[in-house]
Amino acid sequence: MAYKQIVYQRAKAELEARRKKAEKENDARRLKAITLCPEIARVEGEIASYGLDAVKALGMGGDAEKYIRELSVKSLAAQERKKQLLKSVGLSEDYLDIKYTCPICKDTGSHDGFFCECQKKEVINQAKALLGETAPVKGCTFEKFSLSYYPDVIDPDLGVSQREHMSTVYNFCRDYANHFTKKAQGLTMYGGTGLGKTHLSLAIANVVIERGYDVYYGSVQNIMEKLEKEHFGRKNNDESEKEAIINADLLIIDDLGVEFVTQFTTASLHDILNSRMLKGLPTIISTNLEMEEIYEKYTQRIASRLFGSSLPLAFCGKDIRQIK
Ligand SMILES: [Zn+2]
Repeated sequence: MAYKQIVYQRAKAELEARRKKAEKENDARRLKAITLCPEIARVEGEIASYGLDAVKALGMGGDAEKYIRELSVKSLAAQERKKQLLKSVGLSEDYLDIKYTCPICKDTGSHDGFFCECQKKEVINQAKALLGETAPVKGCTFEKFSLSYYPDVIDPDLGVSQREHMSTVYNFCRDYANHFTKKAQGLTMYGGTGLGKTHLSLAIANVVIERGYDVYYGSVQNIMEKLEKEHFGRKNNDESEKEAIINADLLIIDDLGVEFVTQFTTASLHDILNSRMLKGLPTIISTNLEMEEIYEKYTQRIASRLFGSSLPLAFCGKDIRQIK
């Protein structure tokens, strides 16, 4: 269970930026305080020298303990004087305390040798932001999915209303996301345009990312463009796009069927699906195509990789984008 390296790097950089900002703001406050009352700078120097003397005394032996206690008393008195000086020029006692976003770890990301909660939270934020670069994840949550767009009259083919059927699909997807593991089954979402396939697959992505899993999302067209660029372009030492796709805890391929099929796309798609199947990693695919059309458009080998291990979910209703 891990995100891409870049997610951790960005989280670390964000924390460092917070820390630097807090320290810079404190420098500005300090300048103001000292301009108002130069004595504060002298008292601060005194406090610093007591600290330094105490460190030096540690290795002295003999009366070191007594000496350090004396320094501590002097230091506390100086700190009290500093507070009074701040108050005397109309500033608060804690005016010169650095205001970190997270006072627990002082924006370092760890305390007592453990990762701080703020760092864990920021890592999730960055994982979501990374996914957000290629997908409209923010608007696509379970909370924002509305069943009211689906007709509430009995559909003779389904035996229930389309709303009721979609309610079952919705609940299934929410459960799937909440219980997702790398061993989860793959899903194939069928149905016409504008029936909520992208919305629900991204709602799953949102929850799965928050639970600490790495999600890769892209339309087939998107993914193929990236792979083609990589295949014919320069190589570097970073994890390749193809590796990221193959190794993601959850891969979501949106809109299968709209892309122009070439030998390259067929081979790549087969390679991706096959590699993930061998690793036992789940893939969610959404498509406007009927099952027979998939057999026609792609090879038998791809179709069997698609259907062999995944659970079909049929989407129904009317194009929500048009109703809206
Ligand atoms: Zn923290």
